[in-house]
Amino acid sequence: MPVRIRARDTSDTTDGVGDSATGPDDVQRLPADRLREALNSPPGGLTTQDAARRRTRCGPNQMPRAPGRGAWRLIAAQLTDLFALMLLLASAGTFVIYAMGRPRDTGTLQLAVAILCVVVLNASIGFAQEYSAERTSESLQAMVPHRCRVLRGGEVTDLPAADLVPGDVVLLEAGDAVPADCRLVEAHDVTVNNAALTGESAPVGRSAQAVDAGPLLRARNCVFMGTDVISGSARAVTFATGTATEFGRIFRLAAAAPRQKTPLQHQVAAMARRVAGTALATGGLLFAVRLPAGQGLVPSFVFALGVMVALVPEGLPATLSVSLAIGVRRMARSHALVKKLLAVEALGSTTVVCTDKTGTLTQAEMTVTRIWAGGGTHRVSGVGYAPVGDVQDPDDVRELLLSAALCSNARLLRPEGHGHWRVLGDTTEGALLVAAAKAGVDPAAHETAGPRTTEHPFDAERMLMSTVTGTPARGYEVHVKGAPQAVLGRCSALMTQGGSRPLDETARKAVDVANDELASQGLRVLAVARRTASGPRPDRQEAESGLTFLGLAGMLDPPRPEVSAAVAACRRAGIRIIMLTGDHPLTAEAVARRVGIVRHPDPVVVSGTELGALDEPGLEALLARPGEHLLCRVSPEHKMRVVTALQRRGAVVAVTGDGANDAPALKHADIGVAMGASGTDVAREAAVMVLLDDSFASIATAVRLGRAVYQNIRKFLVYLFSHNIAELVPILAATFVGFPLVPLTAVQVLAIDLGSDVLPALALGAEPPERDVMDRPPRPPHEPLFSPAVLRRILFLGGIQAAGVCAVFFWHINATGIPYAQFTADDPVYRKAITLVQAGIVVSQFFNALAVRTERESIVRAGLFSNPWLLAAGAFGILLMAAISYLPPLQAVFHTAPLNATDWAVLAALGALLLAADEARKAWLRRRTVTAQGGPS
Ligand code: ADP
Ligand code: MG
Repeated sequence: MPVRIRARDTSDTTDGVGDSATGPDDVQRLPADRLREALNSPPGGLTTQDAARRRTRCGPNQMPRAPGRGAWRLIAAQLTDLFALMLLLASAGTFVIYAMGRPRDTGTLQLAVAILCVVVLNASIGFAQEYSAERTSESLQAMVPHRCRVLRGGEVTDLPAADLVPGDVVLLEAGDAVPADCRLVEAHDVTVNNAALTGESAPVGRSAQAVDAGPLLRARNCVFMGTDVISGSARAVTFATGTATEFGRIFRLAAAAPRQKTPLQHQVAAMARRVAGTALATGGLLFAVRLPAGQGLVPSFVFALGVMVALVPEGLPATLSVSLAIGVRRMARSHALVKKLLAVEALGSTTVVCTDKTGTLTQAEMTVTRIWAGGGTHRVSGVGYAPVGDVQDPDDVRELLLSAALCSNARLLRPEGHGHWRVLGDTTEGALLVAAAKAGVDPAAHETAGPRTTEHPFDAERMLMSTVTGTPARGYEVHVKGAPQAVLGRCSALMTQGGSRPLDETARKAVDVANDELASQGLRVLAVARRTASGPRPDRQEAESGLTFLGLAGMLDPPRPEVSAAVAACRRAGIRIIMLTGDHPLTAEAVARRVGIVRHPDPVVVSGTELGALDEPGLEALLARPGEHLLCRVSPEHKMRVVTALQRRGAVVAVTGDGANDAPALKHADIGVAMGASGTDVAREAAVMVLLDDSFASIATAVRLGRAVYQNIRKFLVYLFSHNIAELVPILAATFVGFPLVPLTAVQVLAIDLGSDVLPALALGAEPPERDVMDRPPRPPHEPLFSPAVLRRILFLGGIQAAGVCAVFFWHINATGIPYAQFTADDPVYRKAITLVQAGIVVSQFFNALAVRTERESIVRAGLFSNPWLLAAGAFGILLMAAISYLPPLQAVFHTAPLNATDWAVLAALGALLLAADEARKAWLRRRTVTAQGGPS
């Protein structure tokens, strides 16, 4: 029967994929070997040339780029945001007044055009910022490449999933994302989660057996792109890639995912709406007060307009997204990829970090240094993965190392060029292979003599794995390796130099003593055991019981050098670190001491069994106990319980994870952190942050940067809202004292808000973290952005600015001795006075920007010149102001007059006063905390 395959190109019949063909059902109906024939997929995998040819024909195995928000949509969004609409309306209103006026007043037209320019300018700035933020997040996603293990030319290789072609033989393991649509040809205990395709999240079993025709998605022997392997291990032949997959079909139907706003963005948006409402109401009210007072429709309207634009924080939303994006970019440079903006904020308030041990605190560069077998300990020399070194009495440990090697799926890779030996797969297994090689054990030779017939894959609940090898002629053997306590519990005999003998209490004691001794040196200990099997495929129950204990292998996994400093930083920052490990308590404690997580003589060490016996209140009480917590021999399920218990106690929890079964804990945590280098696809999917280098130090850096982002946002909020007070108060004061004109016109307000304020606000959003960010406790998670402290600061700074410019204005007006009512808009004194007000705000904003840079530290200590962007932005604002004051065309638009040197000096003194007052406030704050803590901290 001709066989047609569901590869995407069926018209081409030149090279196997797609020549002999029938219906799509064949993928599930054919026995494995017939299917391989049909897909032209040899058991050793495709050759590189063949794969390259297929790749050219079928295209890359990936979805076309997700349609992001197009440029037009972004522009439209900018023009329809609340502030833009308000300003557009104001512009239209002004234009109508101009058109109806007799005679027509060019000033009104100028105002209408100016407001329109402002809208366009603001929209372009906002567009540019959002556009670049969007591109950042796209390029970040591309930085976590999806890889898979494929058989090519008889060798296992690690490829980008995009290079997969139909006919490729893929190796799958628990935690892998399925890279394409594949038919299983060999499967051990496989379950998959098809939720992405079918919506059912319960894992479903999969096998390699042929099945009857039926819907492809229901076929028990197929796995699909976009789904995950939850447990087991398998080999599978790819039959559809890229958009030809089931996932591809759905992808083409589905619209782009909606973009979510973070709580912070919601807070700011809500705040902005409130401010806009206030602005409208205040403007309307003043209009209503001034119109009946006989001040004329146009002046009253212009006046009200000035108040409105003075209050509206035009640049705020864009500045916010920029500073979040800057945080994301900085984190990426520190090896922490943030997948959701949400994480940036949550990181700033993290109170607890639950961390893994292996790979995160340690290097996961394992070397077996001690082997306990035959009643004695044997040293192993050498470092790293190079199989160079000696084993003391190799004859005594060969059996153990052979079983360990036959129970491993990792591969040692020879150095390429001048590189190092590397491990493909699990590093624990790699270390055992290296030790085996040092003892002269060649697993490859044994494998040809008796190939592997079954595997019961490792999972973190059982903490062990087993394989079966052999032939009918020589019989079959089970090899088991895993956590000592797990393996020992399944043994009934112990291998000694004199042969196997029953595992009595004394023998168990001896094993325990040896285990504790290795563990207390900080070694990661694995036990190895063996038994004979009745056939090639014993079930798990049979394979993993009645074993003969061969011994223990202790491997050194040195702590990462950068971790100790990071742990110390977290301590100072008031962040609690809880270590959660599947390892032995003594190993855990030794490592924890080395990196500084444990310093006291007796930490709270709790094992998984003890955790399992606790109910939820018990668990909470345990975690509430003061002291340092080490949770050992824990399974992923415990991890999840610990996370939720901490959260119920009000903690903001970051948790690390790598395995597929860590996904629930990662999802529940406030910040799920996945390992980029060693983690599984499933964990990376579930996390909001991915560590490219797996290191704990990167978490600490991310927390520091997260705090900095939050602080920076507060800085520019204070900066922007305090000057709003300085714009509004003089206008209100004028109304109050019956001065007929505005001390600051709407055009001037716009020039400040969009000319001189935008750049400094952006520069504040990009401030590097303050020196003492990690010397303070975490921010309370539910503290509002506009906390009382922030509001006090806005009033403090804004109040001083407002008082200053009011004084300058009325002092100037009063000096003439002319009654208020006689001032007209063209009066040179009035023009000079409003120029002074505008320049007063611009100059004091320069000092204000310097003041808000630190919360408590003296700005002199922090370095007046340490943010050159801010200085440049401030200088630009002052130059712009000078141009408005001196250039005749701008004088015409803004109704300004030239200032003299004394004027500038007075304004500079006012600014310096603002800075000095704020320094005094900071000094007071510092003293207060010192007294509160009873000494300098
Ligand atoms: P850790 O907390 O140190 O990362 P894991 O949760 O990864 O530990 O593993 C838990 C225990 O399972 C380990 O202490 C080890 O005894 C055992 N183990 C880990 N990897 C393997 C493996 N590939 N094969 C057998 N046993 C393993
Ligand atoms: Mg682990």
